[in-house]
Amino acid sequence: MKGVYKLAVVGIGKIARDQHLPAIAAQPGFELVACASRNASVDGVRNYPDIDALLAAEPAIDAVSLCAPPQVRYAQALAALEAGKHVMLEKPPGASVSEVAALDEVARAHGCTLFASWHSRAASAVEPSREWLAKNAGAIRSVEVRWKEDVRRWHPGQQWIWEPGGLGVFDPGINALSIVTRILPHEVALRGATLTMPSDTSTPIAAQLDCIATNGAPVRAVFDWRHGPVEEWDIDVETDAGRLSMREGGKRLSIAGKDIDIGREREYPALYEHFHALIETKTSDVDVRPLRLVADAFLNGRRVETDAFGR
Ligand code: NAP
Repeated sequence: MKGVYKLAVVGIGKIARDQHLPAIAAQPGFELVACASRNASVDGVRNYPDIDALLAAEPAIDAVSLCAPPQVRYAQALAALEAGKHVMLEKPPGASVSEVAALDEVARAHGCTLFASWHSRAASAVEPSREWLAKNAGAIRSVEVRWKEDVRRWHPGQQWIWEPGGLGVFDPGINALSIVTRILPHEVALRGATLTMPSDTSTPIAAQLDCIATNGAPVRAVFDWRHGPVEEWDIDVETDAGRLSMREGGKRLSIAGKDIDIGREREYPALYEHFHALIETKTSDVDVRPLRLVADAFLNGRRVETDAFGR
């Protein structure tokens, strides 16, 4: 650790309180000095109602971490980058792919770091999986993703998930896609999709994706928000050298029938370590491939209507 950067968090809601604030408190490379949120405040730091007020009052801030829903990410990130701040984006990095490309260009123009974070990529099983699959790249035969949970348990009262840009079931599903695009040594292209749409929402409650890897292996994903009570966040990769199975969103890993010791979970501490390293090395990390697959599913997917969700 070299520099200590003054940090602000924007959008104090579920993920900011559950993960960001504890991770920042434990990370010596950042000092949390301010927050911006319309209805919430954080003890012990200066608080503002929105990012414009924060940027106007806090010229000494080095970096901001954006934790509001994706529909407002672009405007907030643009304001921060134009003020010369390094920016960390919660996932998904935008409500559209083109927004993220635009932010990447603005970050370069201002000499700022842009980190489009994917917290599931920091799950303990991901790097060991990536390394093993790289060694067995020629042997990969198929990939099956099952990402199923109860929306009423994980998103109680959240309306933004059902609005355009809120992604619906892709809000968790994109976590699986962020893992798949990280661990596979081949690119993945979307070939078809089915989106199950409640009659009263703008985003799907379930989806199936049919993709193909560049080595010809089928990559299939099933996302469902009508599942419970026990979540299924599983990825299976069949290879000639045995099956790689990731469970619990990357907290457990087995390869060819053997459980692998992957250590404890530390997704958000790892994200802030990475953000710090990016700032120190004056680099960015912007990989839109998970969002691009979701965008392709909206572009290419067949819509099937289902019962109203009853928002
Ligand atoms: P949330 O609690 O519904 O929203 C976060 C906060 O953003 C809200 O409390 C709200 O604070 C602010 N906000 C909401 N709408 C806004 C708007 N239109 N303009 C400005 N601020 C607004 O959502 P969340 O669950 O924390 O998720 C936020 C992001 O983190 C999403 O992209 C999600 O995919 C990602 N994420 C969530 C989880 C999770 O478990 N929840 C896990 C990983 C990643 P104020 O009303 O005070 O402004």
